[in-house]
Amino acid sequence: MDTSITDVAIVGAGAAGLAAAIFTRRANPTRSVLLLDGAREPGAKILVSGGARCNVTNRVVSERDFWGGRRAIVRRVLRAFTADDAICFFRELGVSLHEETDGKLFPDTNRARDVLTALLRGADSAGVRLLTDHRVLDVQAADDGFSIVATGGTIRCRQVVLATGGQSLPKSGSDGAGFQFAQRLGHTIVPTTPALVPLILDEARGSIHRRLSGVSHDVELALWVDCRISMRLGGALLWTHFGISGPVALNASRHWLRAELEHRPVKLTASFCPGETFDSLERLWTAAPSRRPNSSVLTALADHVPAAVASALLDRLRLDAAVELAHLARTNRRALVQALLEWPLAVKGSRGYNHAEATAGGVALDEINPATMESRIRQGLYLIGEMLDVDGRIGGFNFQWAWSTGYVAGRALGA
Ligand SMILES: Cc1cc2nc3c(=O)[nH]c(=O)nc-3n(C[C@H](O)[C@H](O)[C@H](O)COP(=O)(O)OP(=O)(O)OC[C@H]3O[C@@H](n4cnc5c(N)ncnc54)[C@H](O)[C@@H]3O)c2cc1C
Repeated sequence: MDTSITDVAIVGAGAAGLAAAIFTRRANPTRSVLLLDGAREPGAKILVSGGARCNVTNRVVSERDFWGGRRAIVRRVLRAFTADDAICFFRELGVSLHEETDGKLFPDTNRARDVLTALLRGADSAGVRLLTDHRVLDVQAADDGFSIVATGGTIRCRQVVLATGGQSLPKSGSDGAGFQFAQRLGHTIVPTTPALVPLILDEARGSIHRRLSGVSHDVELALWVDCRISMRLGGALLWTHFGISGPVALNASRHWLRAELEHRPVKLTASFCPGETFDSLERLWTAAPSRRPNSSVLTALADHVPAAVASALLDRLRLDAAVELAHLARTNRRALVQALLEWPLAVKGSRGYNHAEATAGGVALDEINPATMESRIRQGLYLIGEMLDVDGRIGGFNFQWAWSTGYVAGRALGA
């Protein structure tokens, strides 16, 4: 390919780019749409998502499930193409979805491959021209449109959509190159950090994670920023050989990393007894000896947390696990209650973009028109998906953002 000309060029055939391509052609089949991707096989992230089952969206999605740019903008985009719209869209493409815990929606076949295949077929039958193995090196403003410099040649287009994703899982082809294109075209990039990423704990600071590797249980995490609790997040925590993972740790990660990026003092603590206060829990432990005087502290603690966690906590607190409740000294009881409610998690960093499911930060949302996803800086430029300064929590929200932004851009491009 030397120089080719198209009405609309979409850079990135991930979730957002595929959706935008389909919706552009559906809105206006006379417009030529070229979808470019650097990878030989596009949609790598769809394939690995949700444990290769692809958590396509969530039963209930609102702007409160997202972080980053202004929520009013996120709301406007989500309302244009809701989770119900996504369900219909996939049903039309031949993929029916079912609901699992926390409203997560998966394909009935439980195969992410089926989601990708349906999108690729949908694009093909809508008349989208897909060029894989075409890495885009630059996007430049040109007379009457844009000039896209790709490995296979140069493409001229009237409108261009950047759908190059964030920086998470860079081996999938999303390595942040799109941020540079957007920046050169005049956009502000909110500094990025990994999001939905496991956190590394510091063994030198006495962390108990290694001996608990593989244990999972419900906790409530408290994020302390500037010496105050800025947020509480509940859910399952998974202890690993390097630190912590599981939904609650993944959801907390972007907040810890953002605070660190801003050089603000930040720490994370876990309550192993969500919903309890110091007073309520101390009352429980004070009354416990009369109910079960011969029970050991370890046995009583194992009512609250898995036995392995109970044992690790007592070792760390240097409390005798075998001591009977009736003989537990007041100071030790109070230390135990405090530990159960504010267990320090000595975070020293994250596992980085290679292990992150999303990227926080990206193209500033205020610079995009939420009615069209068109840039407010450069006419004819559209920005969608994860490359924007929006990141969702675990549960199918990031894909919903990709479908919604893809739809809004497609509708505008086809008008
Ligand atoms: C392991 C994992 C599991 C996940 N599970 C879920 C889940 O179950 N549910 C959920 O909602 N979200 C999940 N996510 C997040 C979700 O996958 C992303 O938010 C979503 O894929 C973003 O879509 P996107 O189209 O914006 O970007 P991407 O999917 O990253 O697609 C960008 C595309 O652009 C291409 N590209 C990039 N740069 C260039 C260039 N210079 N030239 C040409 N092409 C380029 C890439 O090759 C890629 O195909 C998961 C992410 C990971 C990593």
